[in-house]
Amino acid sequence: MNIPIARPTTGREEADAARRPLMSGWVTQGPEVKAFEDEFAVMTGASCACALANGTAALHLGLLAVGVRPDDEVITVSHSYIATANSIRYCQAIPVFVDITPGTFNMAPAAVEAAITEKTRAILCVHQMGMPCDLAKILEIAHAHSLSVVEDAACAAGSEICLKGMWQKIGKPHGDVACFSFHPRKVITTGDGGMITTNDSKIDSECKLLRQHAMDAASTERHDSKQIVRPQYSKLGFNYRMTDIQGAVGREQLKKLPKIVSRRRELADMYREALADCPPVILPEEPKWARSNWQSYCIRLGTGVEASAVMQAMGVKGVSTRGGIMCAHREGAYKTQPWLCLEEGRLIKGESSGCRALAQSELAQDSCISLPIFPQMTNEELQYITECLKEILT
Ligand SMILES: *Cc1c(COP(=O)(O)O)cnc(C)c1O
Repeated sequence: MNIPIARPTTGREEADAARRPLMSGWVTQGPEVKAFEDEFAVMTGASCACALANGTAALHLGLLAVGVRPDDEVITVSHSYIATANSIRYCQAIPVFVDITPGTFNMAPAAVEAAITEKTRAILCVHQMGMPCDLAKILEIAHAHSLSVVEDAACAAGSEICLKGMWQKIGKPHGDVACFSFHPRKVITTGDGGMITTNDSKIDSECKLLRQHAMDAASTERHDSKQIVRPQYSKLGFNYRMTDIQGAVGREQLKKLPKIVSRRRELADMYREALADCPPVILPEEPKWARSNWQSYCIRLGTGVEASAVMQAMGVKGVSTRGGIMCAHREGAYKTQPWLCLEEGRLIKGESSGCRALAQSELAQDSCISLPIFPQMTNEELQYITECLKEILT
């Protein structure tokens, strides 16, 4: 057996779709991107969607569009892919790291409230590994303090949350904006790619402006116009465009999303059942109000079990695994501040190694492993994985 950690679901449909822009001669942001945005907005239930080069660009523009400015504080988690924290620094703002709730690996809302100061501008919450974070509580705190909420939904396409008794897609959005990624490790992919969904047309226009150097006239308009129009650049923008090749691929992936998510949920159910009676394994929690897309299946190993040794032994048996989600504050890029964390009710400059305020984040990184999960995986492969794991752990 040789089972990878993940595998994209691209195939013939995506290859055929990519031919359209390539043959038409319109290869960068154009009609395919526009159609992908419209279809993605329908999937999430948002009124606007803006496609971008990647998920990190989506976070950067999302933060700028809600008004994050230099020296503002943005409350987020360290326990995430480093792009989350980095996007705050791209705005020259200051990441304020709060700890996570162990069972869901998501931001602990109680910690958020305590971390708010007069400099706080926004909350950047993460739906880690596709598991919805506690938006009901986070939004309540944000509204009480007039803070913007940016959702890092990089992994969460197709995930759902029940709010006020109604099941809704992540990205509806529930905060001011939600930011998605289409990197191959996520549930649908365009190679690289990102998307911002929002219900605020002003935010949407701002993102669409900033993604192409803040150029004032849309390139399609210039194309159609008989007169010569000189574009205007009124402020500093970026080249964060998605290509039409990616847009065409994304539209095919979006069609597959319901099947991808339902198969991932089946596999997660099977993992839960198979590992229920394996004491050193602590399973991920799915709150009653959340339905994950199971972008990753991350288990926690009880004390005394060394995660790296387990990963090594699984590798020998042909099963590829990964460690827990990283903690940005432990990386060289965060060795020196600007980041802050909460200790005894006050924001302080934290320690890059052994930060007490982020103890649960560090523990989750060190004691967790991600098991393979992708729609093409067979039931037999899953059974093999759980058998190997049990053999290694007993
Ligand atoms: C993947 C990921 C990102 C970054 O997305 P890219 O498309 O790779 O730029 C940001 N946040 C989280 C939580 C992610 O998992």
